[in-house]
Amino acid sequence: VPISNIRNFSIIAHIDHGKSTLADKLLELTGTVQKREMKEQFLDNMDLERERGITIKLQAARMRYIMNNEPYCLNLIDTPGHVDFSYEVSRSLAACEGALLVVDASQGVEAQTLANVYLALENDLEIIPVLNKIDLPGAEPDRVAQEIEEIIGMDCSNAIRCSAKDTAKSPLRALIFDSYYDPYRGVIVYFRVVDGTIKKGEKICFMASGKEYVADEIGVLSPTQMQVSELYAGEVGYLSASIRSVADARVGDTITHASKKAECALPGYSEATPMVFCGLFPIDADQFEELREALEKLQLNDAALKFEPESSSAMGFGFRCGFLGLLHMEIVQERLEREYNLNLIITAPSVVYHVNLADGETIEMLTPKEYIGPIMELGQERRGEFKEMNFITENRASVVYELPLAEMVGDFFDQLKSRSKGYASMEYSLIGYRESNLVKLDIQINGDPVEALSTIVHRDKAYSVGRALTQKLKELIPRQMFRVPIQACIGAKVIASEALSAIRKDVLSKCYGGDISRKKKLLKKQAEGKKRMKAIGRVDVPQEAFMAVLKLE
Ligand code: GDP
Ligand code: MG
Repeated sequence: VPISNIRNFSIIAHIDHGKSTLADKLLELTGTVQKREMKEQFLDNMDLERERGITIKLQAARMRYIMNNEPYCLNLIDTPGHVDFSYEVSRSLAACEGALLVVDASQGVEAQTLANVYLALENDLEIIPVLNKIDLPGAEPDRVAQEIEEIIGMDCSNAIRCSAKDTAKSPLRALIFDSYYDPYRGVIVYFRVVDGTIKKGEKICFMASGKEYVADEIGVLSPTQMQVSELYAGEVGYLSASIRSVADARVGDTITHASKKAECALPGYSEATPMVFCGLFPIDADQFEELREALEKLQLNDAALKFEPESSSAMGFGFRCGFLGLLHMEIVQERLEREYNLNLIITAPSVVYHVNLADGETIEMLTPKEYIGPIMELGQERRGEFKEMNFITENRASVVYELPLAEMVGDFFDQLKSRSKGYASMEYSLIGYRESNLVKLDIQINGDPVEALSTIVHRDKAYSVGRALTQKLKELIPRQMFRVPIQACIGAKVIASEALSAIRKDVLSKCYGGDISRKKKLLKKQAEGKKRMKAIGRVDVPQEAFMAVLKLE
């Protein structure tokens, strides 16, 4: 919490006007003390201790509160209940910057109200008047506000009117921050209660999906799941409700009660739209069904992951998958390989194109001023349109470009870092589709078109990309027993061509005599090298070749 967001305050009041009740309420609402641990008048124990001269364990209660996405630290510093201890009161108040002046709206200003106000004024405190007990039939908040203005001379037009007892509860709102699929219990949802309470057996509603369920089980994470009967504002917990589809209870959605729905959902929900796409193909065609099952299981935990079957004559059967970004893509691939033991070839990531329209975005880069030049060159090279530049401080500039997302999915970030010696950072947002002059560049290996290697490029770059790509593929694809032509084409027209010359490869001929262990090592090494090869026609193409388009100079 930044120092500017720390508030040290106390509550001052005439006896019985509701100081302790309000303190309890604040502790409860901020989740500092959970309701089930909450004895009434939590802070009063301290009063007693102090009055008896016993050591005081807790002098201040620290509360955390989030407002407009900013964390605040609220330190409630207790003052003794009786002004007899005015020296003590004064000392506590000296530690504060502000005080809540609680006045019972059915009683009005009383002696201790005044005495406390004087002490607060002596300590230069910001005083916020609070008119309490407005729920009482005899409450006259307007009259009491006027009284405070007249007697104390304090502006009460913005006085807070409340009932510290606050009998009317706000409707439930709980934010889902994680979920996973349990084969026995269905989807397990992790959430934080922001408003209200949730009880076991209640009928709940997920606000974005509109789906309703009965919360069969709720509990806390401590850190293993432990059932409880009720969770309160500020608490983090889990629930299960025989939910079969993760899509019904997505991360970011708000849980409310089916019978008493909250008016609006908590911020945090936005539909996950995949932005980056790639093909995933099992190296061994027999693993296709396993791959499908693995993707389905992963999707249960990860609603942002999209996939649909794809087949091509060159690659066989696989899936076209959509991800939120490159990191998401890498994580999914890792999990498929590690957790599901699949051997995969992934094709270079690409973005969505709408017929003749290319995806556009605005990118903002922050850089120390000495790297502005190299960064603007990068923006220009990547078909970027310069938008604006501002100096944020004397030495740091913000540079804004609009550029095609397609130019970003590759090594843009790496380039930004290397051209600024690591000092520049970036942020981007999608701004929609833009028209662009694009062509589809196809690759043929040994006469077979390999769709997985096709890419969409700007017409001006087609020839240079075609040349660079065929050269790179020639480097990456091992030579075969026969000559292998590698061609780049636009439609039927070949625009670049390379060829791998034939070899007769006998790895073992390099071993003289009968050194068995060395032979084994060599064979093993060769087998490992083969693991990540995909047979395209008669040609074995390694994983790296499918990423070649990202690594062109
Ligand atoms: P303190 O002496 O200032 O700490 O006052 P307490 O918090 O102990 O409250 C005194 C009495 O007023 C208790 O019986 C509370 O339950 C009651 N009380 C406090 N706030 C409210 C309120 O907003 N409405 C009603 N109706 N009673 C309240
Ligand atoms: Mg009290």
